[in-house]
Parts: sequence; structure tokens; C-alpha cells
Amino acid sequence: MKLTICDRCKKPIEDKPIKIVIGRYGEKQKRVVNIEIRLNEVDLCESCAKEMIENVTKTPSQTVSPAIQKEKEQIKVESPKVDKMKVIDMIIAGARGTVIEKELGVKQSRISQIKTEYIEKELEGLDLGKIKALRGAGWKLSDIAIEMKTSEVVISKALNS
Ligand SMILES: [Zn+2]
Repeated sequence: MKLTICDRCKKPIEDKPIKIVIGRYGEKQKRVVNIEIRLNEVDLCESCAKEMIENVTKTPSQTVSPAIQKEKEQIKVESPKVDKMKVIDMIIAGARGTVIEKELGVKQSRISQIKTEYIEKELEGLDLGKIKALRGAGWKLSDIAIEMKTSEVVISKALNS
């Protein structure tokens, strides 16, 4: 008998290869009546087939197999599209550039660019004199940020400019 390799885990399949068919099940006919997708070209071992079936019943946010997770990370890293708002959210939360890079797959140079843009935009509308006065009165950076309706990174930049 010809040895079949699982198309997912690349291991030889010991039993019969499993093929997955995605279709509509006819209640009257008691069988699949309308086949939507037939993955005929794909041979799967039992554990991969089971895992794939489990995965389709999970909500998208639930992490699936490490292999799929790795694929997702790969896509993140390779994606040229930068989610600017997500980067800004993390900057506001005080995350380091290295953490943002790891989390969002955005290059450090792009992160600093976004950070500079964000801070400059925020600083435009802020009363620097008031910020310095509050600091002089012993206010904490976090409290000044709340008072000025901005973030600590911005306050810190304002005080160092
Ligand atoms: Zn497999």
C-alpha cells in the first residue's frame, strides 16, 4: 500500500487518510445533500482532522493549534499595514517599543515615528505652562496626565522640552 503523508502535520498516515467535506446536511435525506467545498486534494491524519473540526467550532479569538498560531504571527510580522491606533494605544499604556514590536509586528522605526507624531499632535493643544506649574507643585506625572486629559508619555515629553 502506498504511504500517504498528512498534508497538515506532514507525518505518514497509519490508517486511511481522512478527507474533509464541507456541505449541507439534509434532514429529510439524512445525508449531505449540498456539497459546498470538497477538500479532495487534502489527506489528513486522524488527529489533524479532529483538530480541524474542533477549530471550526471555536470563536475566532480562541487560539487554536501552535502551528496556526505561528502562521498568524508570521502574517502579523509580514503585514505592511500598520494599525496605528493599536500602536498609539500601547504607547499610551506605557509599553516599550520592543514590546509593541513583538505584540503588533510593527518595526521599531515605525513605532518611534508614530510615537513622535502622536506626542507632537497632543502637545499642540496643551498648556505647557500649566503642566510645568503642576509639576513644580509636586504633582505626579499620572495625575498631571489626568488633569490635562492626555497620557503620561505626553506629559513627560512636555516637561523635558
Ligand atoms: Zn496530521
